[in-house]
Amino acid sequence: MSGWRVARIAGADIIVRPSLVLIGIVLVIVFAPQFESLGAGPNPYVTSVVFVLSLFLSVFLHELAHLAAARWFGMTVPSVELHLLGGETRIEGDSRHPWQELVTAIVGPLCSLILGLIALWFAAATDGVTHSVLWSVGFINVLIAIFNMLPGLPLDGGRVLRALIWAVTGSEAKGVRVAGWIGRLAALALVAIAIAMMLGDDVFALGRALLVLAVALFLWQGASYALRHGVAIARIGALDARDLMRDEPPPPESVPISVDLSGRELLVALAENPANSYALIDDEGRVVGTLFSASVDRAYREAG
Ligand SMILES: [Zn+2]
Repeated sequence: MSGWRVARIAGADIIVRPSLVLIGIVLVIVFAPQFESLGAGPNPYVTSVVFVLSLFLSVFLHELAHLAAARWFGMTVPSVELHLLGGETRIEGDSRHPWQELVTAIVGPLCSLILGLIALWFAAATDGVTHSVLWSVGFINVLIAIFNMLPGLPLDGGRVLRALIWAVTGSEAKGVRVAGWIGRLAALALVAIAIAMMLGDDVFALGRALLVLAVALFLWQGASYALRHGVAIARIGALDARDLMRDEPPPPESVPISVDLSGRELLVALAENPANSYALIDDEGRVVGTLFSASVDRAYREAG
C-alpha cells in the first residue's frame, strides 16, 4: 500500500495517499482564478490554499465520524485513508449487523452536511475573503453530503442501501449486488456528464470534466471491487457455527472447535483443522452438537 501514515487514532492508521497531494495542487490551480474573479483577498493562490486545506480538514472530519461510529459498535478499523475523492474508512468485523452498518455509513454524510450548513451560516455573517472561503467550503461540504448519499457502492449511500436490503431480506450478498450495480450505473452517468461538460466553451470546462472523469473511474473501480469481493465476504459473514449445528453427538473422529465461531473466524478454524465433522464446544468445555463441513459448504453456496 502506498501512502504516508500520518497519525493513529482509536487504533486506526490515518494514511494520506500521494494522490491527495496531487489533487490538492490541481484544486488550488482550478479554484485560484475563481477566487480572483470574486476579488477575494490580496493573493488568490493563498486564498485557494486555505480553501483546499479547509476542504481536506472537513473530509477528514467526515471520515472521523465513520471511525467513531464503527468503534462505538466495537468494529475493528485498521485504517482511514485520505485520497483522491476524500477518504475511505476500512471497517472489519464478523459481528456486524445491518443497523450498525447503516448508522456507521450515514454519520459521514451527516457530518459533512452539518459542517457545510455551519460554514454557510458563518459565511452569511462575514464578507470579503472570509466570506468567499466559508461559502465555498460550505457549498462543497453540502455537495459532498449529497453526492455521498447516492445509493451506489462504494459511496456511503450505497452502504446504506446495502444495509437496508440486508435488514429486509436477511441477505447481505443481495444488498452488495444491488448497490454495486447502482454504483456502476452512477459511474457511467458521470462519464456522460463529463463528456457533456467538455462540449461547453467555458475555459475551465476541461479541468472540471477531468475531475468528474476521475470520480467516475473511482466509482467504477469501487463498485466493481464490491461486486467481485463483497458478495463472497457477505456470504462468509453469514456463516455461523451455532446456526449450522446439528443436534446430534459428534462422530468419533470429530475435531473440537468453539460453538461461538462465525464468519471468517469459523472458516479459518475449519481450514486449520481439516475434518469432515467438528464437535462444537461451549464456554465450559461441554460438547453441544456437531458441525459437518458439508453443511458449511452448502450454506456458503446457498447464501444470497
Ligand atoms: Zn463517507
